[in-house]
Amino acid sequence: MPDSLDRTKKAVKRSRDSWFGKMARLFDRTRVEDEVWDELEELLIAADVGVATTQKLIEKVKQRVRTEKLSDGVQVRAVLKDEMVNLLKVDGGAVSISKSVSTQIILVVGVNGSGKTTSIAKLAHSLKSEGGKVILAAADTFRAAAIDQLKRWGERVGVEVVAHQPGGDPGAVVYDALQAAQNRQAQVVIIDTAGRLHTKFNLMEELKKIKRVAGKYDMPQEVLLVIDATTGQNGLAQARHFTEAAGVSGIFLAKLDGTAKGGIVLAICDELKIPITYIGTGEQLDDIAPFDANTFVEAIFS
Ligand code: GDP
Ligand code: MG
Repeated sequence: MPDSLDRTKKAVKRSRDSWFGKMARLFDRTRVEDEVWDELEELLIAADVGVATTQKLIEKVKQRVRTEKLSDGVQVRAVLKDEMVNLLKVDGGAVSISKSVSTQIILVVGVNGSGKTTSIAKLAHSLKSEGGKVILAAADTFRAAAIDQLKRWGERVGVEVVAHQPGGDPGAVVYDALQAAQNRQAQVVIIDTAGRLHTKFNLMEELKKIKRVAGKYDMPQEVLLVIDATTGQNGLAQARHFTEAAGVSGIFLAKLDGTAKGGIVLAICDELKIPITYIGTGEQLDDIAPFDANTFVEAIFS
């Protein structure tokens, strides 16, 4: 993967040039007066941090300013960054391939258009360049175009794609992909899923079924939820449905490059308590970076 600070800086450029740049400049003044807190609150909410997380964050910063008797803007800004990092540190981590364990399953879920298939291609590309053997499973059988899209990415990346006919049983696709992974000793199987079916109930049942099929294999399972960063608080609400139904273990935050409201990152970590493992930084194969709390805060204020 390319240098992650550079990638992250690229992805948060719009956020840095707008809300977060203004936030940083709030503390250029030497003494922090009361009105600074109101301005900070407005900027955080405008940046999509969300009301609850904003209040929590400001309370923590104010408390430290009091107990550490700080008044200098530079010091207060440092505390703000520090408390942001604390909010962003949720236990969990990036998917890493290890040759010693058996095949690892990564089930990728999320609404249509959030960036699932593209993010799967990026992930496959990155895991492959680390030396892993990767197989993709086209379990979004609801739309024919979705199968073709995954096949095209598979060709570009140079990994095998297991696919059935449109309208086929996603569970059967997953079964075949896991058999193939066993036979060929693949390190990772990444499963693409539908983002929308006739009803939300159907979709959640289908995901549960896929999980049951995968659960019959003695392979560790990760459930990666792809969230479109540009959908802000709305995306966060959708994420809750998936976390309830699919037991999400990590978040791939796609299209962070497409929003000036990068504060959604803070809302996701604080409200969902699920770690962001990767960020999407563009539409190309190498537009991916592992998420790291310190790197993110450094990049967004740099
Ligand atoms: P899916 O329906 O969830 O599988 O979503 P797709 O993978 O088809 O992506 C939907 C659109 O989002 C496509 O036009 C992608 O190129 C675009 N996209 C995905 N990830 C990113 C990203 O990180 N940045 C940008 N700018 N666009 C992205
Ligand atoms: Mg797709």
